[in-house]
Amino acid sequence: MTVLYLILQGKSRFANSRQNVSKRTQKLLILAFILPIMDIIKDFIKYFNNMGGNMGRSSNNREVKKNNRIDTLRAILACERISQPALAAKLGHSGPTVLQNVKELIALGLVQEIGMFASTGGRKAKAFAPVAGARIALGLEVTKTHIGIVAIDFTGKLLHYTQEGREFSMTDGYFRYLGDIVSDFIQKEQLPEERVLGVGISLPGILDDTGKVLAFSHVLNLKNVNTENFNRYIRFPCAFINDANAAGLAEVYGRDDLKNLVYLSLSNSVGGAILADGKLYTGDHLRAGELGHNTLVPNGKLCYCGKKGCVDAYCNANVLSKLTGGDLALFFDRLQDKEQDELMQVWRAYLENLSVVVNNLRMTFDCNIMVGGYVGGFLEEYGGDFREMLARRNPFEPDASYFKYCRHKLGASAIGAALLWVEEFIQNLSAKNKKNSGIE
Ligand SMILES: [Zn+2]
Repeated sequence: MTVLYLILQGKSRFANSRQNVSKRTQKLLILAFILPIMDIIKDFIKYFNNMGGNMGRSSNNREVKKNNRIDTLRAILACERISQPALAAKLGHSGPTVLQNVKELIALGLVQEIGMFASTGGRKAKAFAPVAGARIALGLEVTKTHIGIVAIDFTGKLLHYTQEGREFSMTDGYFRYLGDIVSDFIQKEQLPEERVLGVGISLPGILDDTGKVLAFSHVLNLKNVNTENFNRYIRFPCAFINDANAAGLAEVYGRDDLKNLVYLSLSNSVGGAILADGKLYTGDHLRAGELGHNTLVPNGKLCYCGKKGCVDAYCNANVLSKLTGGDLALFFDRLQDKEQDELMQVWRAYLENLSVVVNNLRMTFDCNIMVGGYVGGFLEEYGGDFREMLARRNPFEPDASYFKYCRHKLGASAIGAALLWVEEFIQNLSAKNKKNSGIE
């Protein structure tokens, strides 16, 4: 069409100017050749764009469907049981979409129908629930003096926890021991191996962003060690995570009220984790949350890092347990004893320091602050007026309801490490997960 129009236009001009005919003819001939080619190219571009657009849309559709299915599973995992209308309302999906996703999750052996909800006037609604134990993840927490091991199901529920005392050593014997612990635990707790997703391992140190190198661990006295050493004798896929980050993840998992959280871990060293919208913030050098080395007292007590006045020197668990022969539980037991006034004075001073640390975190992050680790497990029972101490330091808030006691008193790091596999499973949820499910 374009070519025809130009030729006609050219013809009318010929009549007015005979001397330009040959030049015009040349131009027209060139145009006659070029323009159809350009049109063809344009059509091709349009065709490929459309095709690309459609491909994009269909891959977007697939992505949307996958995400809808994942959201549906998460919503079911978060409840003991839930109805289709409640799911639709919670997810903002249509009834048929919810039904389709639930059917797929049932086919994957992850969700089941468990009776009906009582009628509220209309038709009775079916109740859906996760299939408990459809998948299991294991978590190991490696510390200087002991190893904790947990099994959780894919709802995040703790199934089993055990702890073995063993001093860390960078030897083949120690790594073989880790493999034995996992095997013995599976046997003792009669866990179906085919449903085990993997083993998460928490380490007290800074890992690189691939999790393949333990860049630094003061506690284990290691530098630039390949993490594959730790799973040398473990026959499941393994993933690694910093211990405080793991514990923080375990605390926020499945909790809508704790999307943003700073987790302060008070064990034999002090660490922390920063979680924004349920995800770890690790900083530019993977050292975000090293709260133990914030300065609490200028030129104060010597910290193990070599600096003076760090939070760790005032708030690690040894500050308390060294008064009772290294036994922290005994420290708190004796705290009740009126004749142990010295212990009470140490505890009050400890809480005073801790209130400064927690208030500083609140001022910096303006989110919920939680204290965990060895001392965190005792704080709810023995903390007394700790929240009032916090409120007195806060110029904006009359109470300290932002301060949260930890949910996991034991094995938090191991649980968080195990959750890496649960998350991996949920994120990659597709029909292939049906394989090896062990669920008929
Ligand atoms: Zn320090």
